[in-house]
Amino acid sequence: MKDWILTIGIDKYYLTEQEANFYSKSVERGAKIIAIRPTLSVSSNLQSLVHKSEVEATKAIEAGKWQCTHGNWQPKSIRTCSCTKSYVLTEEGTYREVDTEEKGITIES
Ligand SMILES: [Zn+2]
Repeated sequence: MKDWILTIGIDKYYLTEQEANFYSKSVERGAKIIAIRPTLSVSSNLQSLVHKSEVEATKAIEAGKWQCTHGNWQPKSIRTCSCTKSYVLTEEGTYREVDTEEKGITIES
């Protein structure tokens, strides 16, 4: 997956993790021009090399979202996430909310 975004001047290039690592190491070694793949040779004079999760995080933070302990972005209108919440059918035929992180609870499918 091309999840890394390399910005050089006004141009953006989408790189795989392997390509991003190769680019970073080549810059460290002092290369001036780096052939990332046969069709892409670029300057070592970059503006940024970021994983797309950084771009998503910036957008989420600007939108006022917060990140729960499970790594998911939550809207500011809710204070506790429901990542581990599930519902089980009781003997009475009603649904009961359970937290799958609590000890001893397994959800059968
Ligand atoms: Zn969560």
